Amino acid sequence: MPGLSLSFFLSLLAAPTSPPAPAALPAPLPQQTAATRDSLTKKGYTLVFISKDPDLNPTTKQRMIDAFYTVYPKEAKRFNPNTLKKVTFVVDPEYKGVAATHNGIVRYNPTWLREHPEDIDVVTHEVMHIVQGYPGGSLGWLTEGIADYTRYALGVNNQAGKWKLPDYKEGQSYTNSYRITARFLAWLEQNGYPKIVNEMDAALRAHAYSPELWQQKTGKTLDELWTAYTANPTAVKLAYK
Ligand SMILES: [Zn+2]
Repeated sequence: MPGLSLSFFLSLLAAPTSPPAPAALPAPLPQQTAATRDSLTKKGYTLVFISKDPDLNPTTKQRMIDAFYTVYPKEAKRFNPNTLKKVTFVVDPEYKGVAATHNGIVRYNPTWLREHPEDIDVVTHEVMHIVQGYPGGSLGWLTEGIADYTRYALGVNNQAGKWKLPDYKEGQSYTNSYRITARFLAWLEQNGYPKIVNEMDAALRAHAYSPELWQQKTGKTLDELWTAYTANPTAVKLAYK
């Protein structure tokens, strides 16, 4: 997103909460906007929660906040302790995807949340993108694969959300991204390369990734690793929270 439109977007976000208000009590929101804004700080992390949907289920909101404070510090600890200390969630009826993350701001589609109330670990996936903080142009399939791997490994409600890594099927490729790549990463971890996700994540963040890195870290090329996986894809124990 170009800088100008982002700052314009941010100024829109900030507008409802910044009328001149000398009193100790927060000023009431303007009548014409239904947006609510909460900010809380725990465990050294600040979460600003903006909802532009007046019908957002308060239970869903609370579960998203709880998931953030359960998962984000763990993601930070495992992958990137220097990740952003302040994260903003925006529940935005104008956003039509499921969720998307840019510059520390996660936008969620309230219709998706309403129709999939157990899909709380959409939070886990999205905030991992903040922890990743990869430079622009990073490998999409591996970025999404690591985010879904993290949702698998650190998620809080995958079982109730009926979210699973799919069984291997012929014709898949590691570049299929998301859950297919995530399952491959989980398999690698359990089949001789327990640090591989951390190593790839760190390299991507440092702009030091290259395809040769797989060989340097494992002694096998990426294609050889994939072949080993496809020869024995069930040799992985998967457990979901
Ligand atoms: Zn993603």
